Amino acid sequence: MSSRISLLPDHVANQIAAGEVIQRPGSVVKELLENAVDAGANSIQLIIKDAGKTLTQVIDNGMGMNSTDIRLAFERHATSKIKVAEDLFELSTKGFRGEALASIAAIAHVETHTKTEEDEVSHCLKIEGSKVVEQTISTQPKGTSIAVKRLFYNIPARRNFLKSDTVELRHVIDEFHRVALAHPEIKFTFYNNGSEFFDLPIDSIRKRIASIFGTKWENQLVPVEEKTSLVTLHGYIVKPGFAKKTRGQQFFFVNRRFIKSSFLHHAVSSAFEGLIKPGLFPGYFLYLTVDPKSIDINIHPTKTEVKFEEEQNLYAIIKASVKHSLGVFQVTPSLDFDKDPSMDLPYSYKNKTPNLPPIEVDSSFNPFKGEINRLPKKTDKATQWESLFTESNTDPKIEDKVMPLLNVPQVSRVFQLFSKYIVCPLKSQLLLINQNRAHQRVLYERFLNEITNKKGQSQQLLFSQTLTLHPLQLEHYIRLHDIIDALGFKIKLQGNILEISGAPISCPVEKVTEILETILDDLDEISDSHFSQADQIAKKIAKTLAIRTGEILKQEEQQALIDDFFGCKETAVSPFNRQIFITLDKSEIDKKLNG
Ligand code: ADP
Ligand code: MG
Repeated sequence: MSSRISLLPDHVANQIAAGEVIQRPGSVVKELLENAVDAGANSIQLIIKDAGKTLTQVIDNGMGMNSTDIRLAFERHATSKIKVAEDLFELSTKGFRGEALASIAAIAHVETHTKTEEDEVSHCLKIEGSKVVEQTISTQPKGTSIAVKRLFYNIPARRNFLKSDTVELRHVIDEFHRVALAHPEIKFTFYNNGSEFFDLPIDSIRKRIASIFGTKWENQLVPVEEKTSLVTLHGYIVKPGFAKKTRGQQFFFVNRRFIKSSFLHHAVSSAFEGLIKPGLFPGYFLYLTVDPKSIDINIHPTKTEVKFEEEQNLYAIIKASVKHSLGVFQVTPSLDFDKDPSMDLPYSYKNKTPNLPPIEVDSSFNPFKGEINRLPKKTDKATQWESLFTESNTDPKIEDKVMPLLNVPQVSRVFQLFSKYIVCPLKSQLLLINQNRAHQRVLYERFLNEITNKKGQSQQLLFSQTLTLHPLQLEHYIRLHDIIDALGFKIKLQGNILEISGAPISCPVEKVTEILETILDDLDEISDSHFSQADQIAKKIAKTLAIRTGEILKQEEQQALIDDFFGCKETAVSPFNRQIFITLDKSEIDKKLNG
């Protein structure tokens, strides 16, 4: 009887394996960079075209390969990094599975040039879809260059699955960051479509972080150091006041390998508890050195997950060290106070019952009854919270505004409530409008309209301002400058510095650079379509410039806001889909008070 089961030909097995290891250009970048690190290079170049879809090339000055090794390197399970199973427990290299090059060569065109110290000549090998098409010799310097072209050329389904260049580039950059942050002792350069993206000299970890994310990061880093028998921990946490709205800068490295661990992340986050607002993420760059025997890296094909032997202890050590650093450096929570008056209290107290002084005269007070009576009465949290605005926190300015209402003339009868709502009495309804959301709506529609019609009005700045961009921001600027111009900015780009001589009329002068930074930061999953770019930018500006909750508005300002707001195309929800106002019908009020 013939067998139903047969061994898959190598090139098919390789394609299947590739599916696990190589999901996108970013995966190629990761594998090639890691091989270059493993080869002992101290200078590594990454060159990509079209987010790596057309070309991903890594050039290193490492140990190179001889004529036999260059062929073996592309065989599956061919590795120079482990020989026997026991070696798995002593890993000091990034790679060990011997799968990456075989996988990449199965689904792309790969051209390798490599030379060892000993060889007189360099070797060149071209492979297309696992087939060797050319092997020659030439005279390249010591080291290895591997160029991967036409990724997924023979698997259209995978190619079609790739996201826009912007999204794929983001993944490439993420992988680059991870390797570059793990190895500040290696010089890295990165070229994207012919322009230099990053040039990272050999440096300290702190400087490396700053050259990747921007110099202003340097002052935001607080060192973390701890040495125990289980782990040596070093690195930095980012000051709480610099916490970001996206997860961007959270890095764990274990024995110089970037890993993802929600468990360890939790340890750090819980140390930050009470110091940053919900919705913001703590930043950290933490390097763990552990005995290779105490971890298993072989639980995931891309090796970004690790199993630790003593997870609970590790958790406790990380949490305690981070807490310690936050304490030692007396990092005070520099919260964004003008966002919400509830933030006037350190966040950790926000949801706790405030200990209000016992101001009421307690007729049943008995001095001999002990402490109990002197404690504030515990009431519903929400009511107490409200009372912070209305009673103990009453701002005389607000009262001034509220009191004359009784005889305000018909034309200006709106007023502000709790410094967060505008109350607007209509004929048979009362409108309660959230001032922050309403203003976001006004600004969003205004800026979107200006971008779309390219008619943003500009104000000339008395003194021009400058903004130094880090490489990612520069890339975003180059891509988005049409939109930025349309808003009314007048900008000249000199190297990586923006010289700003004009800004949109509705942008306060002191907010000019902040707005630009907001526009250029964190454009993660933005699509390439002009509309969604414009939409995202208009939202960002609206969020940054909108009147805050807690801001006290003059009568004219309240009225202007209401007028602008009712001129909007959409009034129900803010650009972020939050309800803007509620109504109270006269009939409802009558039912309750007059019925
Ligand atoms: P692994 O890294 O798991 O060993 P790879 O498929 O990534 O598997 O690489 C196979 C082998 O090719 C490596 O073990 C190494 O010997 C060799 N190699 C790959 N890239 C380089 C490089 N840049 N310089 C020198 N040798 C390399
Ligand atoms: Mg490898």
